[in-house]
Amino acid sequence: MLDYDGTLTPIRKHPKLAVLSPKRRYFLRQLAGRPGNKLAIISGRKLSDIKRLVGIKNIIYVGNHGFEIEAGGKYWIHPAAKRFSLLLKKIKRALKNGLSYRQIFIEDKGLTLSVHYRCLAGKRLPAFKKAFFRAVKPWQDRLMLTHGKKVFELRPPVDWDKGKAVNWLIGRPGQKDYFPVYIGDDRTDEDAFRALKGKGLALKVGPGGKTLAAKRLRDVAAVYRFLLYLSVGRC
Ligand SMILES: [Mg+2]
Repeated sequence: MLDYDGTLTPIRKHPKLAVLSPKRRYFLRQLAGRPGNKLAIISGRKLSDIKRLVGIKNIIYVGNHGFEIEAGGKYWIHPAAKRFSLLLKKIKRALKNGLSYRQIFIEDKGLTLSVHYRCLAGKRLPAFKKAFFRAVKPWQDRLMLTHGKKVFELRPPVDWDKGKAVNWLIGRPGQKDYFPVYIGDDRTDEDAFRALKGKGLALKVGPGGKTLAAKRLRDVAAVYRFLLYLSVGRC
């Protein structure tokens, strides 16, 4: 189970720029196709977006932090996320009106919303954060706000995350023979690390911050080295 941004591709200035090289896509396709392997991509991005970026057929895709799942040819969407999508449109409009920063990018993922501020200069951060919290205040009881790497995420107010999605995936019939491995780099991946405690291996990409993962991989290149080791048994 692999996160995408910061795990399979380095973090870019704009989410659109985070693309897989053909060589890495080929490698992941080979990895997924090996007997005994099952590959899942688990991302905060919209499912259709992550599917297009990875571009590999017949694997599992989890989008919107677990609110959308495509596995075994079946598509599932969390019922609360469906209800939330209308409200999200209103919030998006309010944010667009309330935040007049050119360096801010609002990513509408249908079921959740991401407000990226990685291009904003440090000295402008306090004013931006103040404006952001003011803009979302009218809805604060009707949404869940989380904080990732230079991004605020607005989600449906239900107890559901990447960890719950991971538990759902590994709890399906016929999964007992698999040993779950999860690799991710961000705070939202910590839910998945927690879900795998005593059930599998959790690996965190990059230094810094407390983590529930058992081990760390230094960077994206180290992720591919580890996956190569998994697939052919050597580093
Ligand atoms: Mg990530």
